[in-house]
Amino acid sequence: MSDRTFHAPLAWIDGQWQREVLMRVDAQGQWASIKVGADVPAEAVRLEGPVLPTLVDAHSHAFQRAFAGLAEQRDSDSDDFWSWRDRMYGVALRVTPAQLKDIAAQLYTELLAGGYTQVCEFHYLHHREDGTPYEDEHAMAMALAEAAQEVGIGLTLLPVLYAHAGFGQTGLRETQRRFGTDAAWVWRACQRINAAGLPLVRAGVAVHSLRAAHEADIRALQALVGDAPVPIHVHVAEQQQEVRDCVAATGRRPIELLAGYGLDPRWQLVHATHSRPEEIAAIAASGAGVVICPGTEGNLGDGLADLPGWLAAGVPMTVGSDSHVTRGWVEELRWLEYGQRLGLQRRNVAARPGVQASTAARLFDACVAGSARAAGLGEWGLRVGARADFLVLDRGASGLAGLPDAALLDGLVFASQGAAWQQVYVAGQRRAIDDAGRRERFIGTMKALWG
Ligand code: ZN
Repeated sequence: MSDRTFHAPLAWIDGQWQREVLMRVDAQGQWASIKVGADVPAEAVRLEGPVLPTLVDAHSHAFQRAFAGLAEQRDSDSDDFWSWRDRMYGVALRVTPAQLKDIAAQLYTELLAGGYTQVCEFHYLHHREDGTPYEDEHAMAMALAEAAQEVGIGLTLLPVLYAHAGFGQTGLRETQRRFGTDAAWVWRACQRINAAGLPLVRAGVAVHSLRAAHEADIRALQALVGDAPVPIHVHVAEQQQEVRDCVAATGRRPIELLAGYGLDPRWQLVHATHSRPEEIAAIAASGAGVVICPGTEGNLGDGLADLPGWLAAGVPMTVGSDSHVTRGWVEELRWLEYGQRLGLQRRNVAARPGVQASTAARLFDACVAGSARAAGLGEWGLRVGARADFLVLDRGASGLAGLPDAALLDGLVFASQGAAWQQVYVAGQRRAIDDAGRRERFIGTMKALWG
């Protein structure tokens, strides 16, 4: 990889548009320098549109991409998260490593097109269909790593600790046989992936949920991880039933219980939908972040996170595409704000008058700021030391055409039809955001799975 220099007429740096920006990428694919108002050297690549940082997709279950669109019919009196989950297990029980690679390669290409250049894979589909280990016990994780490398997206693999079927239960249900792990398994997987040193691939760890990992499991994982600088993700408080079950089993609400385990900034609370102000305060004090997945949470009828509460407390935030019914951050940010407007019957809920009046900018900047920690990276965004990942906006796109510069982000999030960009760069290199071969492999796998 050679050094490259890019010139942008406009670039989003530290929460505002800057003009005539010269950005140099070093041999490692990171930003070496970013200068505003600079002269343009002859060798610079002139980018035609405004440059935006990308975002981390902080929550993905790649295999669920093969289920998107297949759970939107109701055949009984009620349908909720738990009935969806039973149907989703139908896919989880059948996908092979080769099929997972095909699904993930298509998904990761779509995520690049959706403006994400790093994906955190909350990976719990570990074992063979019959529940016995693969010859290479990390075969499924390696299939995800191969897909990410083929596509050229950054990947944070999070092998998941999944030990119990529910609160107060020991062991797993038969339909969860591919998921079962203990703390030692998870830490071994994390160490192996990091030791492999695959370009753009790193690992952290995850705890499936407080219902699937009890206090002793979580304490064991914390002891193994020690102070290693790896992200630690956990699903928490996604469903009201989970809150009730947690209170019945432990006397505490899920976020309250989790906060008692000694969290720190490595921890990322996925969903955190059902919270109370004192729980938000406890998480804010710990430095942990939240990962909100508005598209999936809407699809599953989870409920609305307390966005104003999390923002006001200054808790680091990211978004995730989770079940992949949505695959771009523009749509996630739009749903994030619209959920609040519908619930509160107010407008511009996320905006912060006098500090950041633009709703889209407030949400986008919060996610840029939360991205590095969620993915286990040192830096993120258009700043020296961060990986040189960016998008080039098309000012002629329908949601942006004719808008003044100051309104570009709001136009992108609230008035665009799809992504208003064609160019996506990772580590200073342009990536394909559509690939006919990958799509064909995905279609072949879908036919094999669904007949
Ligand atoms: Zn999830």
